[in-house]
Amino acid sequence: MESAGHRILLDLGLPLNAPDLVSTPLPDVKGLSGEDPGLLAIVLSHGHRDHWGLVPKAGNRVPLVMGKATERIIRAAADFVPDAVALNAAQYLEHGKPLQVGPFVITPRLVDHSGFDAYAMEVEAGGKRIFYSGDLRAHGRKGGLFEALINHPPPNIDTMLMEGSSLGRLADDQSFPSEAALEEIFVDRFRDTAGLALVACSAQNIDRVVTVYRAAKRTGRTLIVDAYAAEVLKATDKDSIPKPAPGWSNLAVFIPQSQRIQLKKKNIASIVGSYRGFRLWPEQLAEHAPRSVMLFRGWMMRDLDRARALAGASVFWSQWDGYLGAGSPGAALKADCERRGMPFEVIHTSGHASPGDLKRLAAAVSPKRLIPIHTFEREKFPTLFENVSIHEDGEWINVGGRDADATGF
Ligand SMILES: [Zn+2]
Ligand SMILES: [Zn+2]
Repeated sequence: MESAGHRILLDLGLPLNAPDLVSTPLPDVKGLSGEDPGLLAIVLSHGHRDHWGLVPKAGNRVPLVMGKATERIIRAAADFVPDAVALNAAQYLEHGKPLQVGPFVITPRLVDHSGFDAYAMEVEAGGKRIFYSGDLRAHGRKGGLFEALINHPPPNIDTMLMEGSSLGRLADDQSFPSEAALEEIFVDRFRDTAGLALVACSAQNIDRVVTVYRAAKRTGRTLIVDAYAAEVLKATDKDSIPKPAPGWSNLAVFIPQSQRIQLKKKNIASIVGSYRGFRLWPEQLAEHAPRSVMLFRGWMMRDLDRARALAGASVFWSQWDGYLGAGSPGAALKADCERRGMPFEVIHTSGHASPGDLKRLAAAVSPKRLIPIHTFEREKFPTLFENVSIHEDGEWINVGGRDADATGF
């Protein structure tokens, strides 16, 4: 966005369909690949890679703005996830707190999303107002935030940039199951599983970890997490999120062998000290298996094999089934389960709003102009929403109307 000669960037993601970071170029924005004081900040709506993945390519020149928990989680994950980096925020987004960046006033709205600490934002500059949805949904554990947004929408929005991830994945009149409904399904399945219940989900999908934790507790099981998940949970710094900390029951930390080596290599082996009282050792796994649920990734099968902890185990795939495509680690896990005769079931709900919820949002905000973003089906927008205007990447749009001072993007 540009106003009065100053610019900010809303998100700088690595597209989900990009082959890799190296071969994906930075967008043609002045100040990203060379010095340009006009670019004041990159504002990150949340911690998903498709919203910040290209930031490392831009180097440290441009100040970053993001949520505090987003910064902490990205930093926590950087020690564990291949080619991840720790990002440093210059300023923080806080729910409802206007933030001035040059001529821009950004008012963040915490939203319900599969990524923690995710924001939509109003941006006002030069007397014009834009609303950016970021990624959001209504059916997660923080669905109340979506209803609050609908009930108190940002007023007088000239242009709304709205995500449409679910379009094409769901019929216009279909909705996604809620996290609460998922919890009930997990409770049923954990009851029916004789051995270890292995849940393959992202540790950074905090809503889902809470769903799985609650279902584990309700079925008398302990949720076992690895050091990566433990660090991400700690990084939320939120009392209501389960973590290896005093006061939490039904939670244990198991550190797979390759992770133990990784912790030593990264010189952070000392973090395991904070798991005192929560550790589960390989020789205890088999005994604990029938009373446990494990946050799991395919490569952990080695450790479970070695510990003879897989009798009666089931795998629950609790992430996008797009990650089960041919040649993926998910497909390899599924094939491994088939070979072992181990049940494999997908239990998942989307991190994004259904078309019906997007309709409610668009109607509530009622912008003068609605621009589709973050979607593979933008041509569906005019059939669902009012005042839609479709634009190409790189196309410069004038929000202000006439003069050179106008806000645009
Ligand atoms: Zn997201
Ligand atoms: Zn996204």
